[in-house]
Amino acid sequence: DCKDALKKNALLIATIAGVVLGIALGIAMREAHLSQLDITYFAFPGDILLRMLKMMILPLIVCSLITGVANLDQKASGKLGGLAVTYYMTTTLIAVIIGIVLVVTINPGRAGKESIESTGSSMNVEAVDALTDLIRNLFPENLVQACFQQVTMTYQTTREPIIAEMNVTSIVPIVTNSSTTIAYELTTIVEQNVTVDYRLLGINVLGIICFCITFGVIIGGMGKEGEILVRFFTAFNEAVMKIVGIVIWYAPIGIIFLIAGEIMKMQDPAKVLEQLGLYMATVIAGLAIHGLIVLPLIYFIVVRKNPFVYLSGVLQALLTAVATSSSSATLPVTVNCLEKNNKVDKRITRFVVPIGATINMDGTALYEAVAAIFIAQANGIVLNFGQIVTVSITATFASIGAAGVPQAGLVTLIIVLTAVGLPVEDITLILAIDWLLDRIRTTVNVLGDSIGAGVIAHICRKDLADKRTETVFDVDSQ
Ligand code: ASP
Repeated sequence: DCKDALKKNALLIATIAGVVLGIALGIAMREAHLSQLDITYFAFPGDILLRMLKMMILPLIVCSLITGVANLDQKASGKLGGLAVTYYMTTTLIAVIIGIVLVVTINPGRAGKESIESTGSSMNVEAVDALTDLIRNLFPENLVQACFQQVTMTYQTTREPIIAEMNVTSIVPIVTNSSTTIAYELTTIVEQNVTVDYRLLGINVLGIICFCITFGVIIGGMGKEGEILVRFFTAFNEAVMKIVGIVIWYAPIGIIFLIAGEIMKMQDPAKVLEQLGLYMATVIAGLAIHGLIVLPLIYFIVVRKNPFVYLSGVLQALLTAVATSSSSATLPVTVNCLEKNNKVDKRITRFVVPIGATINMDGTALYEAVAAIFIAQANGIVLNFGQIVTVSITATFASIGAAGVPQAGLVTLIIVLTAVGLPVEDITLILAIDWLLDRIRTTVNVLGDSIGAGVIAHICRKDLADKRTETVFDVDSQ
């Protein structure tokens, strides 16, 4: 029995061991005081994991969405999509409210910004530009290009190494031909002349999602004629998931080095804690309340089952989120866990989870609201009620617009700051600790998507039960 359980959970145990080992190795290796470049070499196996996961994103999103939608009838997919978006928006708003209540009560910025080290400057981004960018991204002019284009609603930052730390020195708008669109390139310069471009996803996910949903609805509604396409993409999807099944066996090893590398790069923790400890505590408390109390409670109220049993099924995805700081990179693992461990209906996991990974970011929204108000506090600015409402709304939209890549939330925070007239360059105040908060909020983002899938599957179980159910989907059983 014990052996069986061990075998069944081998991957999970290995992943947990990976996290623990990574932390231990990172702490031990800090003593070696390696240079940035050497740390990059050291963390190489982690980089390979990131690349493998990212490699799966495009085929996964495309096939998943097309088949997820095509295997539902049109009415059901409309209902599901509507429900998913409503659920995502509601939970995100709840997260924002939790963050605001905490940051206003705790007032972590009361010491003022003189007590925090800051560097650099950046540019304002108007909310209207951010919104038009969001919509513009939904309609890529060229689908092929969208597969290797980055999301346009982002900003250019250049990070310069300062011995063992990195700082944003500028955020520069790039004006494209026809619009005020701001594009970005987030580049890390590791020692001289070595440029590592590690955080770009390189895909306009929103645009791809929009097209694939439409395509799925159309071929699903074409009857006999469309069936060959539905079958093609369904088989394709199964093949992709099989590859994911192989990749996740490498994950524990990659995770060791991702985490160790990050800890080795970390600034002196004592200094950061002294300056930003209270701010960190506020963000972490908010994320914990939302992820460990509010969302599980929603699950319990709707589904009437133990939410923590459900969450233990996606633990591997949560740990991958901690290690990668990216909900998009974690997506393959999330889908795998939901289907294999939690037996969530494939039409749900393949339709709503890729959308969730892209637009449902409760952790990011909470973080942005707290960060914006913290910056106001540090500047001695008291926001009025109207401004706080503006913060909530823009933080919600900024989280939707943020790509599921590391530190995207820090970049879209600019929208929130601009909307209420806060100094955008003060983003650099909270930069030193963002790598850690990013991991935690990403985990809450993934947790939110997972719980969302369970809740939506439960609400829609009747729609899923009657129509076209297992027929096309289960290639395995055919
Ligand atoms: N890293 C986060 C994610 O991928 C986004 C963020 O920076 O908040 O979900």
